[in-house]
Amino acid sequence: MISNDILYETALKQFDTVAEILNIEDGIRERMRNPKRSLIVSVPVRMDNGKTKVFKGYRVQHDITLGPSKGGIRYHPNVDLKEVSALAMLMTWKCALMHMPYGGAKGGVQCNPEEMSQDELERMTRRFTTEIVQIIGPDKDIPAPDLYTNAQTMAWMMDTYSMQQGNTIPGVVTGKPLLLGGSLGRAEGTGRGVAYMVMEAARVLYKNLRGLRVAIQGLGNVGSVAARLLNDQGCTIVAVSDISGGVYNPQGILLPYLLHHIKENKHVTGLMDTDAITNEELFELDCDVIVPAAIEGQITEKNADEIKAKIIVEGANGPTTPEADKILQDKKVFLVPDILANAGGVTVSYFEWVQDIQYYFWSEDDIQKKLKDVMIGAFNRILALSNKKGIDMRTAALMLGIGRVAEAKKMRGLYP
Ligand code: GLU
Repeated sequence: MISNDILYETALKQFDTVAEILNIEDGIRERMRNPKRSLIVSVPVRMDNGKTKVFKGYRVQHDITLGPSKGGIRYHPNVDLKEVSALAMLMTWKCALMHMPYGGAKGGVQCNPEEMSQDELERMTRRFTTEIVQIIGPDKDIPAPDLYTNAQTMAWMMDTYSMQQGNTIPGVVTGKPLLLGGSLGRAEGTGRGVAYMVMEAARVLYKNLRGLRVAIQGLGNVGSVAARLLNDQGCTIVAVSDISGGVYNPQGILLPYLLHHIKENKHVTGLMDTDAITNEELFELDCDVIVPAAIEGQITEKNADEIKAKIIVEGANGPTTPEADKILQDKKVFLVPDILANAGGVTVSYFEWVQDIQYYFWSEDDIQKKLKDVMIGAFNRILALSNKKGIDMRTAALMLGIGRVAEAKKMRGLYP
């Protein structure tokens, strides 16, 4: 795993390179390099053993030029200001790229959610929400789920915020349970978007999806949905992995078996009719598509050369290091970058927020159709720019996202 310092420097380096290409004026460049607002809070929580533990919480709002800021909340031992700042910046480019009226934000609490009870998680969520209550709201900043947070976390956040305002305000967070103003299709939005991007990349490269051999790293909310949808489309899922390791069958993994196995054993390892592989070996397999859908820094200069797949669709945020990026470009791998590939989540979050503030809810068909239009629209814009300028898809995506924010900043001017 790469360090948060490197993640942060990479985000800045990427921005600087693109700012140079776009010739963004210095004053605007400086404003875009720095987050608009960063809040660090202490989150004291009464643990089940009666002792009080103080966790560190963060919320960084990178930019609000195009609208309220938007982005997930993660619970993970690795969370710090650098990580959250880097990911907030990426959210800004992602939202702009998808033509959404949002800036980017990210937040999190440094904790180990796997060692905490539901009650502890609830108390931590409620206290964290209270500590950041002044800077969130449906017109200010709208959190959503991210690593190790889910619909229940969002329900607690919405309830805590609403209790303090004195009325129910569903639009303060997205990714809520359906009953509380959540949207149909939100839980699977990111994975569905990833699947659409695999299909589009395959259309460009192979004209056909059938029999495409896919390896997926990470079987959380993103990887598991992408696996199911791609399998339904006729792809062969040859390998999957999670924190326990991976499993491989060149003839294809039978998804019903896999789901049953995970239900019984929690993890993928030990699935019948498969060979055990490590998370590292997954990247070296003979396959057509790799979907890294776990955490940052998985494809590095150490393993990029071994990759045989011709398509990579980044379900996770920041799974490829800049050094690996160069190697993949030389190998002519078609890479769909994270800010596009995993944007299905925030896109359906946007639909959820629109539905919440209108108190009018759409059908699942509506959502899926709109999501597909938005994802494929962005894919085509990026592909056209990449072909026109002879640049890779990541640079093209960043140019489109960063360019829109820079232009908007210029139009709005500098206050006062
Ligand atoms: N955490 C997700 C992301 O990184 C979703 C954010 C959102 O829905 O606001 O894009």
